[in-house]
Amino acid sequence: MVETLSIAVIGAPGVGKTSIIRQFIYNDFSEVYTPTRSRYVYRPSVILNGNMYELKILDVPPISSFPSSSSQEWLDLRCRGVRNANAYILVYDICCVESFEYVKMIRQQIVEHREGSSSEVPILVVGNKRDLQRQRFMPRRAVSVLVKKTWKCGYVECSAKFNWHVVLLFKELLGIAVARGMRQNHTSIRLQGALQRNRCTIM
Ligand code: GDP
Ligand code: MG
Repeated sequence: MVETLSIAVIGAPGVGKTSIIRQFIYNDFSEVYTPTRSRYVYRPSVILNGNMYELKILDVPPISSFPSSSSQEWLDLRCRGVRNANAYILVYDICCVESFEYVKMIRQQIVEHREGSSSEVPILVVGNKRDLQRQRFMPRRAVSVLVKKTWKCGYVECSAKFNWHVVLLFKELLGIAVARGMRQNHTSIRLQGALQRNRCTIM
C-alpha cells in the first residue's frame, strides 16, 4: 500500500516557497516573482528507503495565522488541509528578519492549535536564499541552535535559485516523519532515484 504524506509549505510572501517546490519537482526556477494567490497542491511520488510515498505538497498562499479550528480552516479556502498536514516546512528568507518572525509565530500556533499528540508533528524550518548569504540578518549557527534546541524543529538552509540543498530538505523532513513512526518499518533513510544527482526518486 502506498502511503500519502501531506506536507504544508508555509512562509511569508516572497521567501521562495513556490520556487523550492518547483525546483524539487520540476528542476525549474524563475527569477520573476509571481505571487501565489490560491492554494496549490503538488502530488509527486518519491521512493524512500525502498518504500514509495505519495506526497501531497500544499503551497499555502499568505495566511495571517495558522487556522485555530477546523471550522476556520473550512471557511478559508487558502487553509484547506493545513491543520491536518503530516508535516510542515516553514520557509523564511535568511536576509529578512520579518519572515523569520512570521515562521516563529506560525510554529507557535501549530503547537498551540493542533490537539494532543498531533502537536508533535514534524516541523522543518528552512532558511532560503542562501546564495544571498552576505546579507543575512543572523549567523547560521545562532539560528540553527535556536530552532533545533529551543523550538525542537529541524533546520536546513537552501537556495532554490541554485537548487542547493532542496532535495536535502525534503529528505530531512521525510527522515523526521519516518523516525517519528509514520511507518513502522524504518531503518536508514535513503531517497534514491530519478533526480540522480541528488539520489531522489520523483515518479
Ligand atoms: P513565495 O511567495 O514564497 O512562493 O516565493 P517565490 O517562490 O515566488 O519566490 C519569490 C522571489 O524570490 C522570486 O523572484 C524568486 O525568483 C526569488 N527566489 C526564490 N528563491 C530564491 C533563492 O534561493 N535565491 C534568490 N536569490 N532568489 C530566490
Ligand atoms: Mg508562492
